[in-house]
Amino acid sequence: MKFVYFNGEFVRQDKALISIMTHGLQYGTGCFEGIRAYYSEKDTALYAFRLEEHFKRFLRSCQTLFIKPGHSAGELSQITKSLLEKNFDKTDIYIRPVAYKSDLRVGNFNLTKLEDGLAIYTVSMGRYLDTTKGVRATISPWRRISDTAIPPRAKVTGSYINTSLAKTDAELSGYDEALLLDNAGHIVEGSAENIFAVKSGALITPPPSDDILEGITRSTIIELVQKELKLPLIERSIGRSEIYSVDELFLVGTGAEVSPVISVDKRLIGDGTIGKYTKILKDMYFQIVHGENKTYKHWLTKITA
Ligand code: PMP
Repeated sequence: MKFVYFNGEFVRQDKALISIMTHGLQYGTGCFEGIRAYYSEKDTALYAFRLEEHFKRFLRSCQTLFIKPGHSAGELSQITKSLLEKNFDKTDIYIRPVAYKSDLRVGNFNLTKLEDGLAIYTVSMGRYLDTTKGVRATISPWRRISDTAIPPRAKVTGSYINTSLAKTDAELSGYDEALLLDNAGHIVEGSAENIFAVKSGALITPPPSDDILEGITRSTIIELVQKELKLPLIERSIGRSEIYSVDELFLVGTGAEVSPVISVDKRLIGDGTIGKYTKILKDMYFQIVHGENKTYKHWLTKITA
């Protein structure tokens, strides 16, 4: 039996239910996080990756929407640790905190006057994108939501309509993933991932001002590029046609981990296989999240049965 942390207590998953009239369902007024905990067979333990950083971003998202989850990032991390102990499973787990406007009134749009709800649940999850073969991507006709419409740096439930439309149309056209342009025409993200390119021995990634979500995996990769690879890391906008001729390309995110992109709109990236630096970073990332790299153990929260 699985448990859910639901409005202040741990309840059985089948008891964690909300009304059809909930504001967050009707209007997409919620904030969420996606966190992974990796199972290590060697240590018979789960390692949650950068738990507190995720909850810090969660609180920043909530701040924008006037949602009060009622706990600090440290408290939310502790609650999640207890939840993982209760739901312990010898498999990789995805943790989903969601805070939402729980109000049942129709037609009330002043966020400061609405009730809030909070839930944290867990599901098992393997690979989201194929990290071994590489991703065939296309540039989406859908633009990334603009900071002047829905805040892209907040992880808002309703804004995943943008993700869903881009991903759906990419898959219907036979691709694995969509790359999105912002309104200025720069490549900014995958449908739910940050993007990195390798060009002339430097790593390039769009800056936070390019309507991106400031990903936890993105900041992890930036740190690894600088400390371990000792390569230049440039935060700058990437042009649409520039992407077709970079040496390497990869997408990063909690779900997507480090996913190599081998083609964009049928143009091969490099020689169409996984790039050298992409492979080094992917392997290093998988070692770190599984607790096999001592230097970065401080990013992990250990959970045992
Ligand atoms: N951009 C978007 C739109 C996302 O949904 C995600 C996944 N959370 C990311 C980037 C990557 O963020 P993170 O590395 O924190 O998972």
